[in-house]
Amino acid sequence: MGLFTRRKTVMVDSDILVIGGGMGGCGATYESRYWGRNLKIVCVEKANIERSGAVAQGLYAINCYMGMQWNENRPEDHVRYARNYLMCLVREDLGYDIARHVDSTVHKFEEWGLPIMRDPETGRYQREGKWQIMIHGESYKPIVAEAARKAATEVYNRIMVTHLLMDKTRPNRVAGAAGFNVRNGNFYVFRAKAVIVAAGGASHIFKPRAVGEGMGRTWYAPWSSASAYALPILVGAKMTQMENRIVLTRFKDGYGPVGAYFLHLKTYTQNAYGQDYEPTWYESIKERVGDYVERHPVPTCLRNHALLEEVKAGRGPIRMVTKEAFKDPHKETVGWENFLGMTIGQAVVWASQNIDPKEINPELTTSEPYVMGSHATCSGAWASGPEDCAPSEYQWGYNRMMTVEGLFGAGDAIGGSAHKFSSGSFTEGRIAGKAAVKYVKDLGAEQPQLSEAEYEDLKKIVYKPLENYEVGRNEIVAGTVSPSYLLPIHGLQRLEKIMDEYVGGIGAHYTTNEPLLTRGLELLGMLKEDLAYLGAEDLHQLQRAWELQHRVLASECVTQHTLFRTETRWPGYYYRADHPKLDDKDWHCFTLSRYDRDSGKWEMEKAPVYHIVD
Ligand SMILES: Cc1cc2nc3c(=O)[nH]c(=O)nc-3n(C[C@H](O)[C@H](O)[C@H](O)COP(=O)(O)OP(=O)(O)OC[C@H]3O[C@@H](n4cnc5c(N)ncnc54)[C@H](O)[C@@H]3O)c2cc1C
Repeated sequence: MGLFTRRKTVMVDSDILVIGGGMGGCGATYESRYWGRNLKIVCVEKANIERSGAVAQGLYAINCYMGMQWNENRPEDHVRYARNYLMCLVREDLGYDIARHVDSTVHKFEEWGLPIMRDPETGRYQREGKWQIMIHGESYKPIVAEAARKAATEVYNRIMVTHLLMDKTRPNRVAGAAGFNVRNGNFYVFRAKAVIVAAGGASHIFKPRAVGEGMGRTWYAPWSSASAYALPILVGAKMTQMENRIVLTRFKDGYGPVGAYFLHLKTYTQNAYGQDYEPTWYESIKERVGDYVERHPVPTCLRNHALLEEVKAGRGPIRMVTKEAFKDPHKETVGWENFLGMTIGQAVVWASQNIDPKEINPELTTSEPYVMGSHATCSGAWASGPEDCAPSEYQWGYNRMMTVEGLFGAGDAIGGSAHKFSSGSFTEGRIAGKAAVKYVKDLGAEQPQLSEAEYEDLKKIVYKPLENYEVGRNEIVAGTVSPSYLLPIHGLQRLEKIMDEYVGGIGAHYTTNEPLLTRGLELLGMLKEDLAYLGAEDLHQLQRAWELQHRVLASECVTQHTLFRTETRWPGYYYRADHPKLDDKDWHCFTLSRYDRDSGKWEMEKAPVYHIVD
């Protein structure tokens, strides 16, 4: 017991606990204060909110802005756009709710000091595309974090939340969360009347293209470790669309963004022989998905599909034609600044590979799959919708409340509503914050009750990897492989290999089928058993151990959903080889799952898709 008694247990009481201080979490913290002037609002973050989350490095564009002040777009238009991109499967109520409020969020960002580019002729925000506006966004995250810091009663940085805590007097009600300080090792127990999970998406669940040298380089933030999914899953919250993983076409080896190149620089792609390859695949795509290929803009997954087929046909590599655009000095500047403001690594990769985009058309490739609810796909928790426009089947409580009472979410955490991006995630945090305040006020003096036995047990479980390592280390004299413990990196590589080979990663050309998925689940089950033997040599590795736990549970959920949906709705994201076509008759629906942590079993069901916008 010596190992554990050294660690203090710190108890923190709050009205609203926000887990994750990224875009959604900062929005939730900010808005909770606006509506709950006298409430205790606590934000807990595993890094430091100043530079945490997917926006840590900065962005060059805000991808969700309507421009209603200039009549550029209406919220309904955005719903149609997101619906089109995801072959009809979006929660239109949630998407509409974000779209109608997102402009005010962007105006706040500007007021707080974010430099937004303006069109010199019209004075309006400089558009990159129909929905995107261009920013000088290297400091985007610190600017947003400052607003959250000022709004919060307390921000606890460097605390990794490992578990949610449930109310001992009322089943299915959340009562707080537990975790540990990644710097001093203290154990934290947060009691809260409402909890908002905004802990980002999931990278590194599928094997990345960069392994060995370069490992860690992924398109989505490498520290997005699936906590936003695992925390609610573990307490029985329903999840939706977890099969809807995303694959991105990006500049090769650096994952540099292509949006500004396509939209602003008007660059285009061609195969190794200088041909426009997309029309070649039109008929075969139509065969798979029907009329969806005729929609405008063509859904991203279908464009990925054409690229993948062209490479399989032996006419790769696919290149972005930059040589023409880069002759224009303005476009050349934009092309480079685009990387410097958000993915500086791509500029370094090009320099190291002698690629001057003025002279050489750089290669594109498709990424490994990621899981997220805020970008162009919509995995996440099944949430109650807004009172004024959600169909009754989508309403069981407060806006953005999951199927667990008092548990809310925002950003990547909430499923069904894609294309929120940074501004929409912050907006959804605001929506969740407002609803959580209402929930807390309605609770009145009632306090959720924590079970001391539960958090004391958790304390032992949370630090177990340190003990496993300290004891097991004596059995080996050199190296890192031990008969009695598994290091987090080894567990991660095993997970990535299973997901890659069985659930449709890059090594399997994004293809899977029922036998593969079934075997994948068996192997994930064995990996789960071994997680009890994770060994952590220090607090940093302890964090890695818990990130792995979260990734494995989220991966199991992804696999269950992929098995359940017996169609290929998004070719280019993944393929069910045994059900290669889109099937609107049987699968024009959401998939829902619920995990029972006592039995380890998953229940799957379908939920209807309602189109509230014509
Ligand atoms: C490469 C890339 C490019 C992008 N480009 C654009 C763009 O051009 N324009 C645009 O608008 N959007 C863009 N996005 C999307 C945008 O960044 C996301 O939509 C947004 O950040 C999602 O917000 P979130 O709050 O859900 O997650 P995040 O902002 O990632 O925040 C999650 C937070 O939770 C914390 N956390 C995670 N687990 C735990 C835990 N267990 N305990 C405590 N804290 C935890 C994390 O450290 C992080 O701070 C891009 C994203 C990426 C990765």
